[in-house]
Amino acid sequence: RIAYVNGQYVPHADAAVHVEDRGYQFADGVYEVCEVWQGKIVDVPRHLERLGRSLSELRIDWPMARKAVEFVLHQVVRRNRVRNGLVYIQVTRGVSKRDHFFPPEHVAPSIVVTARSSNPKAAAAQAAEGIAVVSYPENRWPRVDIKTVALLPNVLAKQNAKEHGGKEAWYVDADGYVTEGGSTNAWIVTKDGVLVTRPAESGILRGITRTVVLDLIQKEGLTFEERPFSLEEAFDAKEAFVTAATSVVMPVIRLDGKLIGNGHPGSVATRLREVFHTATDLQAV
Ligand code: PLP
Repeated sequence: RIAYVNGQYVPHADAAVHVEDRGYQFADGVYEVCEVWQGKIVDVPRHLERLGRSLSELRIDWPMARKAVEFVLHQVVRRNRVRNGLVYIQVTRGVSKRDHFFPPEHVAPSIVVTARSSNPKAAAAQAAEGIAVVSYPENRWPRVDIKTVALLPNVLAKQNAKEHGGKEAWYVDADGYVTEGGSTNAWIVTKDGVLVTRPAESGILRGITRTVVLDLIQKEGLTFEERPFSLEEAFDAKEAFVTAATSVVMPVIRLDGKLIGNGHPGSVATRLREVFHTATDLQAV
């Protein structure tokens, strides 16, 4: 395997950044994950757009021109011969003597790109089965709209889910409303067949997969409401699912040990998963 680190393609086993990288010391950095599907990278323009937004919110410069970043994404996918899998990009504020203040102007941001293959058959099997999710009190900082590498709350919430038989955590805010998953956006389908997901401006990451699914819902003429839904409403839903580049559309069949609907992946989630890639921007590598 090959990784890209600050201008060089290096063997993955030797890929490293300095111990004084601010990503390592302060989680002072941002990232993106794009799906690679059938030899194509999914929604690169949208991911780079969001990367640019995350960088600008934290006042980190682009490590190089956006087109160059795009080129490197393609190179890393190609050099690793990934047909189905993920490509990961991380940009941090760079390497500098440990100090909370921003480093001097001349310090360049660090950039790392890695890619790895995944097994499409295993993913399909997981989607056919559905996943269990476990609720968790929302305890993250309010700027979850920025895709930072500061993911410790997400790590703890997801580990808790795992220890309770789940694959994902659903954060629940102080008013009892689901915000989003540990690494996914959260959706339900009500008994009346209405799709519900929380507005992007209200304490969640604006998922790229979420945006694509919203487009699809409109194309398919499904009814939806962008509003918060409570944990209680989710228990009572006909279906639930999560969305992310890492799992596309993944049906949720259990929430805190209780079955959702009939306990099987729902027809809406299954349909959205089937047609998902028709609504994406696909770049051949
Ligand atoms: N919410 C959180 C907290 C995430 O970490 C992610 C993805 O990693 C998502 C939502 C889904 O975003 P996307 O669809 O862009 O992968």
